[in-house]
Amino acid sequence: MTAVTVWNNCLSFVKDNIQLQAYKTWFEPIIPIKLQDNILSVQVPSKFFYEWLEEHYVKLLKVALTKELGKDAKLVYIIRMENKFGSDSSFTEKIPSEYKPKIKSQNLDASSNFSKVNLTNPFIIPGIKNLKIDSQLNLNYNFENFLEGDSNRLARSASYAVSKRPGGTSFNPLLIFGGVGLGKTHLANAIGINVKQAFPEKTVLYISAEKFTQQYVDSVKKNNRNDFIHFYQLIDVLIIDDVQFFSGKSGTQDVFFHIFNHLHQNGKQVVLTSDKAPVDMQEIEQRLLSRFKWGLSAELQTPDYETRISIIKNKLARDGVEMEDDIIYYVAKHIKTNIRELEGAIISLMAQSSFNKKQITIDLAKVIVEKFVKNTKKEISIDQIQKVVSDYFQMDVNTLQSKTRKRHIVQARQLAMFFSKKFTKASLASIGTKIGHRDHATVLHACKTVDNLAFTDKQFRKYVDDLDKRFTD
Ligand code: ADP
Ligand code: MG
Repeated sequence: MTAVTVWNNCLSFVKDNIQLQAYKTWFEPIIPIKLQDNILSVQVPSKFFYEWLEEHYVKLLKVALTKELGKDAKLVYIIRMENKFGSDSSFTEKIPSEYKPKIKSQNLDASSNFSKVNLTNPFIIPGIKNLKIDSQLNLNYNFENFLEGDSNRLARSASYAVSKRPGGTSFNPLLIFGGVGLGKTHLANAIGINVKQAFPEKTVLYISAEKFTQQYVDSVKKNNRNDFIHFYQLIDVLIIDDVQFFSGKSGTQDVFFHIFNHLHQNGKQVVLTSDKAPVDMQEIEQRLLSRFKWGLSAELQTPDYETRISIIKNKLARDGVEMEDDIIYYVAKHIKTNIRELEGAIISLMAQSSFNKKQITIDLAKVIVEKFVKNTKKEISIDQIQKVVSDYFQMDVNTLQSKTRKRHIVQARQLAMFFSKKFTKASLASIGTKIGHRDHATVLHACKTVDNLAFTDKQFRKYVDDLDKRFTD
């Protein structure tokens, strides 16, 4: 009897008793190392792994091992230690794996010991439930209720193709990009839903870039960065929503880079969404951007009038509400750039009419649409602000951003910073970066200066008022 034969026998027993996916995830990576007397030593990839086995499979292992080695069987885990995080970004293959001697041995005979082991999973991802990873998908966001139009045809069909052959098309990664409320999250979920239907054995995970970042930061705090990486490397279809959130976060980008490479090399599918095309992404490392471009970047554009009408009609049909065509056309005509707002307006209309027991009239539609359209206008970008201010002072944006200290240019720049603070949610630092690479203190100073000058200088007050009008009209 050798370690290998004993372990192989155990494995076939285990395999018969648990789901295939769980078997592949948790048992295939285990390597039998040695057998001495009744003690079998096996190597597991990480501490997390060992704890997971202890928590979920210790009884099963006990039965299997007792069958092979008798009542006095013992199991020893050897944990492969990887070196500490942070020192080097290339942690995977290059690091000499140092084998630490056993950290835990369990007497398999003393069953009371097992219940005493009260292990807490150091790596709690809300997604994990009894080994089955909850995919975190929103089932309402499926292909059936994603309406096709010219604005989304490419993105939709690429997504569909990916969902039929995850990892098997050249669309890997698939990057879906486009403005707010145009259906990125919807399509990304639709891919996941279809994959799960067609390939129930595949592990699918949808996660926002923001949540991914939080988990990563937590893992660093708790000293289990490698477990974090390991977890993500087990996923077959990884969907990360809003990757622009990774901007400026180099640690997260680094860890994602490694996870991405691993998945890609192993033929796993990666789906990403972003509010901009890769060329326009800022503060994302070059090596990551170049990988984003490996597969397909598909844009979701603003829907045309016909598509907007069908989206509204589809929504009404699903909710069993009737609405006159005139009203539908009116809403579709006026809300153009954001499908979420299009739906929002329809929902408000339905709510208003049912609360107030009023007919949905065109006048009511006008009032509601106006509210939405006004709100939309406020969502102006820093780039647009710079453009408006430059136009107003008849200079180009490069001049406005330049390092010059000429007074009228400095003032224009300060006004651009002031309005960016006023009309966007951007931080002082990111406003500074966008307006000629200044720091946050410069932006703060600009805002104060504009406040003061508007108070003391009549001419300047007029600039502020004129510009304000241009932004709010
Ligand atoms: P994004 O992630 O791009 O900001 P979402 O995917 O959240 O946008 O979409 C906003 C809303 O619009 C969602 O309720 C979604 O279901 C809906 N939506 C977007 N595109 C379509 C479409 N082509 N057909 C039907 N509904 C859509
Ligand atoms: Mg979204």
